[in-house]
Amino acid sequence: MAETSIEWTQRPGTKGVTWNPSTGCDKISAGCGLPRFPGDDTGGCYAMAMAKRLKAMGQAKYQNDGDPRTSGPGFGVTMHTDVLPQPLKWRDPRTVFVNSMSDLGHARISREFVAQVWAVMAATPQHVYQILSKRPERMARILNDECRCGSGHAPGVHFRSAMDWASTPHSPTYVPGMQPGLYHRITWPLPNVWVGTSIELDKHVDRADALRATPAAVRFISAEPLLGPLPSLDLTGIDQIIIGGESGPGSRPMDLGWVRELISMARDADTAVFVKQLGLRWAGSGKGGDWTAWPEDLRIREYPADRVAVAS
Ligand code: SF4
Ligand SMILES: [Zn+2]
Repeated sequence: MAETSIEWTQRPGTKGVTWNPSTGCDKISAGCGLPRFPGDDTGGCYAMAMAKRLKAMGQAKYQNDGDPRTSGPGFGVTMHTDVLPQPLKWRDPRTVFVNSMSDLGHARISREFVAQVWAVMAATPQHVYQILSKRPERMARILNDECRCGSGHAPGVHFRSAMDWASTPHSPTYVPGMQPGLYHRITWPLPNVWVGTSIELDKHVDRADALRATPAAVRFISAEPLLGPLPSLDLTGIDQIIIGGESGPGSRPMDLGWVRELISMARDADTAVFVKQLGLRWAGSGKGGDWTAWPEDLRIREYPADRVAVAS
C-alpha cells in the first residue's frame, strides 16, 4: 500500500492513501491512455504501465496477465481478498483512493467482492473513500440490485445483505476483523464514500446519468484527461468536477476553452470545481502542475459541500 500523490484524493488535514483490493483492468475508451497507432481509440493507462513494472519486480499481486489486446502483463483483473481488511487496521482518519490500479466496476469483479469492499467502508466511518470508475452503469446496477427473492424488496436491499455477509463469521465472504451485525449499522448511502466517473469526451456523458443513479453521498466527475469539449454534460446532482489535461510524453493537448466552458457549467449547477492540472503544454514547470503559471481564472480548487478553496 503506497502513499498516493494523486493530489485531489487528499482532503486538507488527512493523510491520503491508496487501497487496491482488486488490481488489473481492460481499456474501455480513449481516456485510458495514448493511442498506440493512428486511429487507435485506446492506449495504455498509467496503472497498466505500472503493473508491467511491478510484475517484472516480482510483486505477488501483479503476476496475472491480462488480454494483450486490451490489457497487459500483470494487469489481469484479480480480486485480492487478503487486502480487504487493510483499512480496518488504520486508526487515524485517512482519505482513501480505492483501486488506483483497477476499476471496481469491471465485469470480472464479482458482486460479492464489491459488497465486501462496501462492507469494509461501512465499518470504517473514520475514513473518506473515493471510488472512480469508467463503468458506472455496472456500479449502479450492483448497488441498486433488484429483488431476486420474490418478496418485493426495495432496490439495494440484497446488496446490503451481501455487505452483511461480509461481517458474518463463517460466511464464505467474511472479511477477517469485521464486527458482526453490520446490516443494522449501515447508513445508506454510506456517508463516507464518494463515487465518481471519468468523462473524457462528449460521447461518454451518459456515464454521468449512471452516476446520478448510483446511491452515493458525494458524486464527482473526473474530466481527466480532458480530450474534447463536453457541451452535452449535465452536472445536475454532481457535487464536484475535477478537470485535468493529459500529462507525459506525446500527451494530447487540452484546450483551455473546454475548461472554461466546464467551469461555467459547474457554476450554473452549483458543482464544486477542482482544476488539477492543465496538461503538458501549459506547464511552467514542464509537469503541468505549476499553479502560478496558469491563467488566473483557472486557479480553482474547491471540494464538495464545504467548497473550500485550498490555494490561491
Ligand atoms: S484502470 Fe481505468 S484508465 Fe486504466 S484501463 Fe482500466 S478503465 Fe482504463
Ligand atoms: Zn428480495
